[in-house]
Amino acid sequence: PTNTRIAVVTGGNKGIGLEVCRQLAGGGVTVVLTARDETRGEAAVEKLRGAGLSGDVIFHQLEITDAPSIARLAEFLRARFGKLDILINNAAVGACEYVQDPADSSASEEKFSGLDQRQRLEVMFNGVRETYDAAREGIKTNYYGTKNVIEALLPLLKASSDGRIVNVTSEFGLLRLINNEELKLELEDAEKLTEGRLDELLATYLRDFAAGEVEARGWPLYFSAYKVSKVMLNAYTRILATRHPELRINCAHPGYVHTDMTIQTGPLRPQEGASNLVKVALLPEGGPTGAYFAKGEEAPF
Ligand code: NDP
Repeated sequence: PTNTRIAVVTGGNKGIGLEVCRQLAGGGVTVVLTARDETRGEAAVEKLRGAGLSGDVIFHQLEITDAPSIARLAEFLRARFGKLDILINNAAVGACEYVQDPADSSASEEKFSGLDQRQRLEVMFNGVRETYDAAREGIKTNYYGTKNVIEALLPLLKASSDGRIVNVTSEFGLLRLINNEELKLELEDAEKLTEGRLDELLATYLRDFAAGEVEARGWPLYFSAYKVSKVMLNAYTRILATRHPELRINCAHPGYVHTDMTIQTGPLRPQEGASNLVKVALLPEGGPTGAYFAKGEEAPF
């Protein structure tokens, strides 16, 4: 294995993920920029290669909901590097239907500059519709996709002398958004939680969603499935960190960022969101594990 640090970034073709790739490569890390779409991913790599960064940027296809695609990435990394030092699980979907194609949004920063966070979120919420299919897709991508990528790449992270995972989460995944005390207590108790229990809770959530009982059961409202996917990703992160104490496994909220996911309503630039994640990825050796970071600082779940 080489001395150069190797990083994988999921969903690296645009938004925050692209800027994470740029910043890691700028710091001399060899970055495997992954994207589900080859054309979009290759174009992003070309853009970064033209920017004169000190670290290498390499493209590899990765659709996080597709097991063969994950297996191909793992095999590529094993054969080429024999290890993985940093895994940034950035890829995710909004878990709702965009009424307007976010990429076609005419929203400009000026248009939102006078609005506070709540008003911006309202504008974003008006641009989406929460459907069952999108909710199911969101859980499948944001929770199970991320989990499957981690499971496949864990052996390579263990082959690193200082393996790190950053699960990109959201302040929308904080436990205080849950209105069911029993559920909240259960999710808080990372020692007792199991992956099997998280599977059960996610299945229950989708059943409640289909039955129109999201509010009655105390699940989060507004971007409900997105929030649930991140709540469960946070819980999974804590389970994993306990199980693999030799790795640093944390989750990090980038801040509210101007990207397609937010229909360009966020006040932060993608570079700022990315630096909040890169900071966690590059924490000094022996730093926290199983922790939550908001905008680069450790905070309660
Ligand atoms: P974008 O929508 O701009 O980018 C999302 C990226 O994920 C794209 O590259 C997209 O690929 C990729 N992706 C989606 N689904 C899959 C999949 N199944 N397999 C592989 N790649 C996939 O979003 P952001 O940059 O805003 O979000 C990045 C991360 O930050 C997410 O985890 C998000 O939840 C989190 N976050 C963002 C916030 C914000 O304010 N923007 C706030 C809090 C958290 P493609 O281009 O092909 O669709």
